[in-house]
Amino acid sequence: MTKLHPLIFLLPVLLMSCTKTVDNSFVPEPGVSRELAGVRSETLSDLHYALDLHLPQERSEPLTGSVTIRFQRTAEAGPLVLDFRAPADNVQRVLLDGKAVEYSLPVDHIVIPAAALGSGEQSVTVDFRSTEDALNRRDGYLYSLFVPDRASTAFPLFEQPDLKARYTLELTMPTQWRALSNGELLSREPEADGTDRLRFAETLPISSYLFAFAAGELQVETATRNGRAFRLFHRETDPARVARNLDAIFDLHATALDWLEDYTGIDYPFGPFDFFAVPSFQFGGMEHPGAIWYRADSLFLDEGATRTAELGRASLISHETTHMWFGDLVTMRWFNDVWMKEVFANFMAAKIAGPAFPELDLELRFFQAHHPAAYAVDRTAGTNAIRQQLDNQREAGSLYGAIIYQKAPVVMRQLEQLIGAQTLQAGLRRYLSDYRFGNAGWPELIGILDGLSEEDLASWNHAWVESPGRPRVEARWGDDGITVTQADDLAGRDLRWPQTLVLAVGHDGEVTEHSVTLRGDSIRLPLAGVGEPDFILPAADGVGYGRFPLDQNGRATLLANVNELAKPLHRAVGLQQLQEDLLEGELEALPFFEVLRAGINREDDELVSQQALGLLQNLWWRYLSAGERAARAGNLEAALWQALEQAQQSGRKRAYFNTLVNITLSESGIQRLRRLWEQQDELPGLPLQEPQYIDLAQALALRAVPDAEAILDAQEQRIENPDRLARFRFVRPAFSNEAAVREALFLSFTDPANRRQESWVLGAMRAIHHPLRAEASLSLIQPALEQLESIRDTGDIFFPLNWLQATLDGHRSPAAADIVQRFIDTHQDMEPKLRGKLLQAADGLFRAAAR
Ligand SMILES: [Zn+2]
Repeated sequence: MTKLHPLIFLLPVLLMSCTKTVDNSFVPEPGVSRELAGVRSETLSDLHYALDLHLPQERSEPLTGSVTIRFQRTAEAGPLVLDFRAPADNVQRVLLDGKAVEYSLPVDHIVIPAAALGSGEQSVTVDFRSTEDALNRRDGYLYSLFVPDRASTAFPLFEQPDLKARYTLELTMPTQWRALSNGELLSREPEADGTDRLRFAETLPISSYLFAFAAGELQVETATRNGRAFRLFHRETDPARVARNLDAIFDLHATALDWLEDYTGIDYPFGPFDFFAVPSFQFGGMEHPGAIWYRADSLFLDEGATRTAELGRASLISHETTHMWFGDLVTMRWFNDVWMKEVFANFMAAKIAGPAFPELDLELRFFQAHHPAAYAVDRTAGTNAIRQQLDNQREAGSLYGAIIYQKAPVVMRQLEQLIGAQTLQAGLRRYLSDYRFGNAGWPELIGILDGLSEEDLASWNHAWVESPGRPRVEARWGDDGITVTQADDLAGRDLRWPQTLVLAVGHDGEVTEHSVTLRGDSIRLPLAGVGEPDFILPAADGVGYGRFPLDQNGRATLLANVNELAKPLHRAVGLQQLQEDLLEGELEALPFFEVLRAGINREDDELVSQQALGLLQNLWWRYLSAGERAARAGNLEAALWQALEQAQQSGRKRAYFNTLVNITLSESGIQRLRRLWEQQDELPGLPLQEPQYIDLAQALALRAVPDAEAILDAQEQRIENPDRLARFRFVRPAFSNEAAVREALFLSFTDPANRRQESWVLGAMRAIHHPLRAEASLSLIQPALEQLESIRDTGDIFFPLNWLQATLDGHRSPAAADIVQRFIDTHQDMEPKLRGKLLQAADGLFRAAAR
């Protein structure tokens, strides 16, 4: 069923190129290189894992087990390389076809030499001790979480998405425990040692990152919907909280399954349908077929939950259920295409969950959730394409970012607009049916769609998916019509991005929408008899994507009217347009500031208001000089206080309050914040809690009030929550008035042991580099950049970019920009993905400093 893999032609060369011979044993590189994965997928097939695990009740006792892997192997396939990321003494015995065999243990692997192996069906058995890395052992329960490449920390296997296998699991565990896994529970019997032995049915073929089990003291709720049995495992102790949510949880799954069976034309492929509401789960959900994990709080909503929270839950359940087809039934070949399954899960979830929430402005939400964040990366010199190169699976973490999460969903909506919903559905149906229980990447899908559509999808794909950046699109009036043209800003490249664009055209306060499809250099929209418009707002549907510079008249009209546009989505798109003009130096900061300030008391849509407040804070610190801020602080603060007092909902009041804490500079404004902190004043309708008092104390310290240390001392005394107290003490030196104290804290981060609490470190860095202290912290920029590689090597996948942003976001001066530019110039050999992160983080500083 699977297509011929291009790597097969390279096999002999690759085997040699990635091999070093030490004591006659084959030494693969650590992790799973693309070469190793290619060799294995061409030489191994028909995989079966029989896994026998002993789960001790005590967390201090190790998990032990045995795995037997049966497989077909082609002749002359070289040594056999299994993945096992554990210390050497975690391997207790290795057998080939039941007999002892020679093996070596290079980093991350178990290798059996070629000479010991035959061809045809063989089996390897390993007795092992698991590491704790992916087992999430808690008091009273545990759950595995193997995505993307962590199964090999628990047991030996061939860990790559395109070696799908059937798994048979046996567990021995305490008698009072329950367990679930991908396969159905077949039997449960007592053992002689007082434990129980559970046998699960063999799974259908699945990728290693989708194999999962959980066990412990679990409650179980069952339900039947449309003839299908569902089971929910959980540890919730409040029966009312379970009862209140139970029907909705089962109903939402049933609705999603029906919808997907109908859309794909394929019945739910995996047999049992169980899920586990995991307390404090690290993701929203994880789509193991037949055993989905969810964050418990995302399923069990509080009493009186908002419609937005309900939409969030419906979207999450629809997302994970969609993965049963997109990701689980058909899986990417390699993690470079991991974006595909996430895009389709979000895309289908919106179609499944959205219609039940007609009162929410879903288009506005889509725009705000995607475009600003995607543009923030895509406008920079450090941006990347949606599809990236991945040479070793252990670097899969570096692929994640705004281009995958925010740009890719926009691109998929455009593909549907371009080829039509029916063609997209027909192509997806064929893709799922051709590759069911197998693997296929983006090239296979785009090939199918290209065959079904008149559109030139090869060039569409080249521009949108395989290349970084965005088009420059202009819509201009002339000769009784609008001409839309596009160009590629990047020198040495001449891409065209086909897309459907909705133009909002303003005439005397009336706005009409027109749709055009731009394929080549330009397209013309005749509009005879209406006369020249006041402005043309491209991409007004919140889907179109690009840099859309306005002409001078259009910009002036939009600037004057953006707060008055009738449709919230038009206001949101218009504000983003003006922000892009500001960043490109085509709009002055002060007129935009006046528009945003005027909008504070006028904007009645909560979502647009939040967007505008975010833009306002960025503009305030990055684009206004200290003198300009001082002249405007009183006026701005007054507008925010008034809006806070008049707002009806506490969510809106909170947004104004947070903005005030962020921007306040006037003497009277600081005194007002101080009275709140001293609990002499209060805010009607917005009771302040511990986190807000901490924010106030820190804001007063940053403004260098004379008794700042006394305020921080008092605040430390007032904190009751132990986690918040620990964080407060950790970041406190960053709020000191003495530069030497702040610098000493920064220097302590040179030791990786002092930056394990990454969110605390980032909070401290933001305070050290706060705009009010930017001059004093100039000398700390270069040392922070010099730690970047160490940060990447020792931290979480998102830490490098966050570290850079925490360092640079508070700066706006040419001096700061020079330091960063010199560092880039003198480090030309920096690893490209890391250099990309630096260019992404420095973009805002470079633009502000260049004015
Ligand atoms: Zn997902």
